[in-house]
Amino acid sequence: MKILLLGSGGREHALAWKIAQSERVEKLFIAPGNAGTSNCGENVNMKADDFEAIKQFIVEKGVDMVVVGPEDPLVKGIYDNLGQDDRTKNIPVIGPSKTGAVLEGSKDFAKGFMQRHNIPTARYETFDGEHLQEGLAFLETLEAPYVLKADGLCAGKGVLILPTLEEAKKELKDMLGGMFGNASSRVVIEEFLSGIECSVFVLTDGEHYKILPEAKDYKRIGEGDTGLNTGGMGSVSPVPFATKEWMQKVEDRIIRPTVEGLKQEGIVYKGFIFFGLINVKGEPMVIEYNCRMGDPETESVMLRLKSDIVDLFEGVAEGNLDKRQIEFDERAAVCVMLVSGGYPEAYKKGYPITGIENVEGSIVFHAGTATVNGQVVTNGGRVIAVSSYGKDKEEALKKSFTEAQKIQFTDQYFRRDIGKDL
Ligand code: ATP
Repeated sequence: MKILLLGSGGREHALAWKIAQSERVEKLFIAPGNAGTSNCGENVNMKADDFEAIKQFIVEKGVDMVVVGPEDPLVKGIYDNLGQDDRTKNIPVIGPSKTGAVLEGSKDFAKGFMQRHNIPTARYETFDGEHLQEGLAFLETLEAPYVLKADGLCAGKGVLILPTLEEAKKELKDMLGGMFGNASSRVVIEEFLSGIECSVFVLTDGEHYKILPEAKDYKRIGEGDTGLNTGGMGSVSPVPFATKEWMQKVEDRIIRPTVEGLKQEGIVYKGFIFFGLINVKGEPMVIEYNCRMGDPETESVMLRLKSDIVDLFEGVAEGNLDKRQIEFDERAAVCVMLVSGGYPEAYKKGYPITGIENVEGSIVFHAGTATVNGQVVTNGGRVIAVSSYGKDKEEALKKSFTEAQKIQFTDQYFRRDIGKDL
């Protein structure tokens, strides 16, 4: 079959790597892809949210399935757009409908959904600009630190955690005053939860689901999890505290009620659900939903998925995911992200990347890279993920740290403490 994968990051390279291993795939297209995805299939110069171009491409090339990597096209409604067009209505899209993607696109919707279905999450209330006074009063009922979340998508910048009531009140006024534009016209204020985070991934056909290996990611730029938030500096799978018992709680209290809740509410959802969880004194609670795989978690999770991912995608498309097998690799897998100096603030692009060919025993996933005149160059903040297997996470991390040093570009930086806290 011919598959079109949308996106251009490390997540998409890892997905492309896994999809390309399937014997069922005759041709894999990646749009727009990056310098690494071209080793797994054919890159297509097309934006992941240019629905008209995507539809024309599907018809022209006889594409049989579309797999959506990032949230943007999903939140913009690619599932519905393709489904409503006679040319593409029979082409399965792996990803939720526009209404399903609202689980990620609106934090207020996600919190309301969890409340309706009794899914454990932090206590919260949502306020708009006309209810600032009520919002300020609600803050007074909470204890420090204070969590403020812009309702809409803010590329990871819309969540503020404030140490004092004064700061929280000031930021609430600013957010409702348009600090993040329309995305913060409503603000979710919630109770702070203390614990270690863990990402759990599920693939669903809307009725059945398969749980993928869990992972922990490292968001901050600095070692010891300090400094600014990034898209993610590395990931580790499995997560030691996600024992069989803990995962059973996750399935019973969170996963099953979510899939059943979506169905009950008539929300079409055929794709990945990413549960951002936190372990509060042994009890899993939901911090957030995302409507796609995580990045950089995918760069370790894909290593641990033994089964043919295309078989699972077919199960999603045909609504018989329960009939498909899912098997994991028992080894640990990790990913260490090499980033541009300056990231997540200003950084330069276009530096030549050398040494990738010297990497042995690790898998190199490209994120922000491009090919210019035959030379692979940096093209983003997060540049390359170095992923490795090991009998345990220590062995895998040692491999990734060693191999990461062979890849060079000006001002290259990576965290050397990934996984050390587990
Ligand atoms: P954006 O929508 O801007 O992309 P996001 O989706 O990354 O933001 P969240 O995942 O909801 O936003 O929050 C970001 C981070 O803030 C979480 O990973 C977690 O570390 C922290 N956080 C969020 N809510 C809470 C909470 N209630 N208690 C403690 N920490 C929290």
